[in-house]
Amino acid sequence: MPFTALGLGPKITKAVREAGYTEPTPIQTKAIPAVLRGSDVIGVAQTGTGKTAAFVLPILHNLSSHGAASGRRTIRALIVAPTRELVVQIEENVRKYAKHLHLKIATVYGGVGEQPQIAALRNGAEIVVATPGRLIDLMDQGFVKYDDLEVAVLDEADRMLDMGFLPAMRRIVRALPKDRQTLMFSATLSKEIEQLTGEFLRSPETVQVGKRSNPAETVTQFVYEVPATAKLALLMHLLKDSTMDSVLVFSRTKHGADKIARKLIATDVSTATLHSNRSQSQRLAALKAFKAGTVRVLVATDIAARGIDVEGISHVINFDFPPQPEDYVHRIGRTGRAQAIGDAISFVTPGDDMTNLRALERFISRGIPRKVAEGFDPKAYDTTPVLSYRPEQERGQRPYGGGRPSSHGSRPGGTHSSSRPSSGRPGASGRPASSGRPSSGRPSSGRPSSGRPSAGRPQVSSASRPASSPRPDSRGTRRRP
Ligand code: AMP
Repeated sequence: MPFTALGLGPKITKAVREAGYTEPTPIQTKAIPAVLRGSDVIGVAQTGTGKTAAFVLPILHNLSSHGAASGRRTIRALIVAPTRELVVQIEENVRKYAKHLHLKIATVYGGVGEQPQIAALRNGAEIVVATPGRLIDLMDQGFVKYDDLEVAVLDEADRMLDMGFLPAMRRIVRALPKDRQTLMFSATLSKEIEQLTGEFLRSPETVQVGKRSNPAETVTQFVYEVPATAKLALLMHLLKDSTMDSVLVFSRTKHGADKIARKLIATDVSTATLHSNRSQSQRLAALKAFKAGTVRVLVATDIAARGIDVEGISHVINFDFPPQPEDYVHRIGRTGRAQAIGDAISFVTPGDDMTNLRALERFISRGIPRKVAEGFDPKAYDTTPVLSYRPEQERGQRPYGGGRPSSHGSRPGGTHSSSRPSSGRPGASGRPASSGRPSSGRPSSGRPSSGRPSAGRPQVSSASRPASSPRPDSRGTRRRP
């Protein structure tokens, strides 16, 4: 089915064509007509299925088909997402699909100054993409006016619950006009999510793709059974395969992520990290460099990597096996996106990992093949921890080193200075490497507007703001010549 058959306006289908999409994905085929009709929608879809366009495209159609009720430029669509990375990514999507429309777009998220965000809101942003914490901050200060709001989207609602944003979500939704369209997207349909849909949505239509909780079907999954002490050596061994050209490695902790990255960098594998000890700009630079192919490996923690959209990830490696099956599903959803083929490799140590693996296999209703790494000899690798960082690598806006582009691409996420923390020198301790374990655009046929109270200035309450969304981060370097 072509996009034009879905009822989207020509300026939107043009932008979609320019994005290179030839036909809608299954979630788009199902969700777009429902959103265009003005229905509330529960979308059950993992990231990687094209769910962002599934809600953004019809929202753009609805918004552009009429002006704001008040005639003023003010917030008409609010999209709330759990992490800053996801907000930035959704914004990129909105801008791409809205490039032939005249709609003002703004983002609201923590870790950066408020003033530009306040200015964008004052300037008449019509589509706002926000994380819950900063949004509530700005609501409390009276900068967010919802009087003309037509549609609200809660993206990755399951993750927002996991991250403790339930009170924030409630406060935000209560501040919205009652007469609105609400869309809620979630990778899984848990009891808690179903409860929330009863609270936030009215007579919703449910659209679902794939089997509930099943990882993207285009991903080849397998596991290596490996002792914890040999995991780093196994990673180094696997990375000898040059077809692994864009590899997302998951570590359970930021400390573990740093250890892995230091070691890879020391062995000339261009590596960045994405976790919560770095500034927002460093995190975005790490992602940009990974997307551009300037770094080959991105080592991330779950929360930091949530929802990141990088086309062409060749492999996801669960260096630390996730204890929660849902995290596994989210992690491997990073590869095999939108029908691409990718490999998801998990390192599984004896003990807890095995128990968690079996729980996962029950959860996804399928076994995951075990593989033996050919020619792998852990003793052939120096896994002594690299202990030191070159401090300049950590400073400022310049997380990537090297003066010359790597073979993986040309556009650095931030250019410059030296990259290698300790020039491959084994750390002083001589200890074996650790495993990295922890320490409406509503159409006129929409619901009547009579019952719609004016939200006015949002209620200010001191209660219930969760800790602001975690601060993923970045560090990285280019591959050395
Ligand atoms: P999402 O699930 O929204 O994170 O989207 C995953 C990826 O699929 C993004 O890189 C989108 O640009 C891409 N995408 C979205 N819709 C389509 C489509 N109809 N055809 C091909 N790729 C798409």
